[in-house]
Amino acid sequence: MEENKKLLLHACCCHCSAYTIKHWKELGYDITVFWYNPNIHPFTEHQERLVALRKMSEIQDFKLIEYDGYDIEDFFRLTAEKPKDRCYYCFTMRLAKAAEAAEKLQNDYFSSTLLISPLQRHDLLELVGREQTGKSNSTFLYEDLRKHYSDSRRITKPLGLYTQKYCGCVLSEWERYRDYPPKDALELYSPVDPKNRYWCD
Ligand code: SF4
Repeated sequence: MEENKKLLLHACCCHCSAYTIKHWKELGYDITVFWYNPNIHPFTEHQERLVALRKMSEIQDFKLIEYDGYDIEDFFRLTAEKPKDRCYYCFTMRLAKAAEAAEKLQNDYFSSTLLISPLQRHDLLELVGREQTGKSNSTFLYEDLRKHYSDSRRITKPLGLYTQKYCGCVLSEWERYRDYPPKDALELYSPVDPKNRYWCD
């Protein structure tokens, strides 16, 4: 057991945070939750998710610090040229800032609530976390928490907090509605009628 070790935990949303915070606390870590997600678009969606996390920090009484900025231009600059590799750059931005904050706040470790999401690339998260460990004085803690995702949702469901419908960036929003159009809004998300289609040659 790691008694009194300080862990800066990057949070992607309240739903992934709930069980993840509990997990590391039970292992004896002193947790500070850290918000930095310039990948969440549009800004109103970013704020909805942040407000939900703030509410949860009041209900569950954990320490939350928020990065004062959005950095959306940096996100686009890094990801636009290689949209297929965008998750690598997205994780790099977020974990680099978490590592920087951990060092500044004298935390021995940093990690992310992304590690509980079955929708995220764990090989990439682990790789980026280790890369960022090499660049700071704090160490990335990796643990595969995916099997606890439903435990986390069981904690947040009764709280009625805002739940996102897509990963975060505009590309993920488009992919989500392209691949899984909501049944109650099929007209809105339906493909172009072939007779109305316009082609550019
Ligand atoms: S899909 Fe998710 S993890 Fe990948 S770039 Fe978009 S917001 Fe980031």
